[in-house]
Formats: sequence, structure tokens, C-alpha cells
Amino acid sequence: MSESRRGLLLINTGPGKGKTTAALGTALRAMGNGMRVLMLQFLKGSWRYGELEAVEAFGGSFVIRQMGRGFVKIGGAEADPEDIRLVQEAWTEACKAMVTGDWDMLILDEINYAISYGMLDAAEVAEALRNRPEMLHVILTGRNAHPALVELADTVTEMREIKHAYARGVLAQRGIEY
Ligand code: ATP
Ligand code: MG
Repeated sequence: MSESRRGLLLINTGPGKGKTTAALGTALRAMGNGMRVLMLQFLKGSWRYGELEAVEAFGGSFVIRQMGRGFVKIGGAEADPEDIRLVQEAWTEACKAMVTGDWDMLILDEINYAISYGMLDAAEVAEALRNRPEMLHVILTGRNAHPALVELADTVTEMREIKHAYARGVLAQRGIEY
């Protein structure tokens, strides 16, 4: 039998909608159990997401920090050095958050994108996650989760798009997309 209480590594990936919001839902569940949750958002910034306002109500026990600029040039050959710098900075914060003992759950939102764009080394991330405190829960979100992280994770969910309003030209809606 494995231990009854331990920290899990979860990954929400795939092209369908719901990766970040599922992580927020898990955070809400953890909050209700008296846990302290930190969400570090890779690449995101400047956009005003409803969750940023909502967590204010929880004070310091549920914190969301945007670590990016909110727009990243994709599809191009090279990532912007400034985005790479911000991703590295976010990763440094993540490593700190794993060892301070301040948090019971750490969510690294959109980290899978940062890794798949080559802005962060998957092996380095895997190594740090392997060595994290045993009770710490970690959730990684974003499309194209790296195989090495999928291998390491306890629970991996792939969101599959069946349909999305965007395909019919419906723009992002308040309360649903942000
Ligand atoms: P959410 O934050 O709503 O849970 P997500 O984390 O699964 O979405 P991301 O890949 O982070 O999705 O993309 C963020 C934004 O893109 C959200 O506004 C989301 O609604 C939208 N989005 C997600 N999947 C799709 C899709 N298949 N087609 C169009 N837009 C999408
Ligand atoms: Mg997301």
C-alpha cells in the first residue's frame, strides 16, 4: 500500500477549454480544507481575469501572481528574450515557493506552454518537482505537456475540444473566458 497522505503532481493539458479553470476549481477545494494555495501564471500578465479579483477575498491564503506580459509572440522562430527572462524569473519563484513551506498547493499555470516554446527546460522542471517536499501538491497547466512531466505526474487530464464558441466567431465572454 502506498502512503495515505502525500502531495500529488497533476497536469491539465490538451487543446480543449478548462485547463486553468479546473486548476482554480481544485484550488477552491483545497482552500475549503484550510490549505494555502499559490498560483504563478507563466506568460500571463496585464489581462484582467476575474479570478485575480476573486482571490482577494481569501487574503494571503490564496494568491495568484501574473509573471508574464500577457502577450507572447508565438509561431515565430525565436521567443522574445524578455519573455524568456520573465519565464525564468517565474520559475525561480516557483522553486522558492516549493521550499518555503508557505504553501500546500502550487499551481504553475501555463508552464507547459513555456516549456513547449523552449523557454524553460523540462528536465530541470522534472528534477525540481521530483525533489519537492512530499506533502506539496503541484498542478501544471497548458497545452502540449512535456512527456517527461506526464511520466512523472500522478494524475494527467487531457481536455479534448468537442466544440468551442470561438470557432463560430463568438468572442471571449466575461465570466467564462476571463
Ligand atoms: P480556461 O482558462 O478557460 O480554463 P484553458 O486554460 O483550457 O482555458 P488556454 O489554452 O490557457 O485554455 O487558453 C486560454 C483562453 O483561450 C481562454 O479564454 C479559453 O477560453 C480560450 N480557449 C481555450 N481552449 C480554446 C479552444 N479550443 N478554442 C478557442 N479558444 C480556446
Ligand atoms: Mg489556461
